[in-house]
Amino acid sequence: MKPSRVLIVEDEPAISELIAINLRHHGFEPIIAGDGEQAQRELDAVLPDVILLDWMLPTSSGISLARKWRSDSRTRAVPILMLTARSDEPDKVQGLDAGADDYITKPFSTQELMARIRAVLRRRAPEQVTGQLLIGALSLDGATHRVAYKGIELKLGPTEFKLLNYLMTYPERVHSRAQLLDKVWGDHVFIEERTVDVHVKRLREALGQAGTMVETVRGAGYRLTVMAPAAA
Ligand code: CA
Repeated sequence: MKPSRVLIVEDEPAISELIAINLRHHGFEPIIAGDGEQAQRELDAVLPDVILLDWMLPTSSGISLARKWRSDSRTRAVPILMLTARSDEPDKVQGLDAGADDYITKPFSTQELMARIRAVLRRRAPEQVTGQLLIGALSLDGATHRVAYKGIELKLGPTEFKLLNYLMTYPERVHSRAQLLDKVWGDHVFIEERTVDVHVKRLREALGQAGTMVETVRGAGYRLTVMAPAAA
């Protein structure tokens, strides 16, 4: 099997080199970029399997890069793991809102970093999403990774796509946050239940008019339902 390519976007060489050494030791192929421009050149050349993105970078911030790569069809599906020295909640949420799949707070242990990378790679394993699903006017094609509502294609991030795929596979059922973490995220050892809410919010936004199909069930979790007539 080809080693997974990990693009490290980090301006502090001491940190990026340490991460690279550890990645190589664990069978990954690390590529280092010191800033956004260099990272873009690497992305244009070969798409990595995962991006480790530092929050604080000299020219463009990690947040703005995450937003840019999420809106670009070429890089949209590449998982982004945000590296941040900050640990306060609003910033984490901002990172997830910008399109990061997960975040890790510096300083982190090598073991934790490897576990997180393996988790994001596992989440995007292609065999997990392959079928075609249709609920009302909402359709999802697992093979082509396309989601459409009333025939109009919608743009979803990789985590939102997996979340929608799961909800559409079991429509009308209520899923707790813990169940969603287990089924959609797979390895939820390091992920807080709050993360589910952030991705549900993003999913609703991405679905636009069909966003009301994702219902909050108070005290229980979330459910995908055929849009209620009142909301249509
Ligand atoms: Ca930095």
